[in-house]
Amino acid sequence: MKAPKSVCVYCGSSSRVADLHKDTAHALGEGLARRDIQLVYGGGRVGLMGIVADAALGAGGSVVGIIPEHIQSAEVEHTGLTELHVVDSMHTRKRMMMERSDAFVVLPGGLGTMDETFEVLTWKQLRLHDKPIVIVDVDGYWRPLLGLIDHMIAQGFAQTGHRALFTVVNEADEVFDALEHEPEPSLRTRTQKL
Ligand code: AMP
Repeated sequence: MKAPKSVCVYCGSSSRVADLHKDTAHALGEGLARRDIQLVYGGGRVGLMGIVADAALGAGGSVVGIIPEHIQSAEVEHTGLTELHVVDSMHTRKRMMMERSDAFVVLPGGLGTMDETFEVLTWKQLRLHDKPIVIVDVDGYWRPLLGLIDHMIAQGFAQTGHRALFTVVNEADEVFDALEHEPEPSLRTRTQKL
């Protein structure tokens, strides 16, 4: 695809993680800003979320945060963003994050990151969108998840074609090459109909 204008990053809100993950979040935020790609993310200051946003802002990038009202204090909304949207629910947040983005990148994260990742994958499976999804498997973090997906396919619960819903890379720098090799999305997003 031609360079996306905006990329949504899903990632962990925890800070108690290895430096390698923090470095990856930093490199991705900076890489997006350097390429003039807008970052769309959950709007918090905590964990990898805060790092990716700060790195993009520090490199002069544009950052859109979308945070639900009820977790504003837990995730400490980032007050220095280009745009901050305070929304009524997790559902609205996820829908807006999808609508505002041309592609999705998944960094290491916890249950929230998995929820977001599975939603964007399953909506692609249902042809509600056909935007690229890149999973960054830093130091094999996502290996068990990728193994589970292969297991689902082997056991007949998912189709072989579902493996093509996403691309896997190992580090932040590889994300941009991966996006270039993705086909141009052709479906207009229908997420607002859900
Ligand atoms: P985690 O990976 O658990 O650290 O969470 C990463 C982000 O996902 C945080 O901003 C969470 O608020 C968000 N999150 C958690 N659960 C959900 C959900 N059901 N829908 C939308 N976002 C969620």
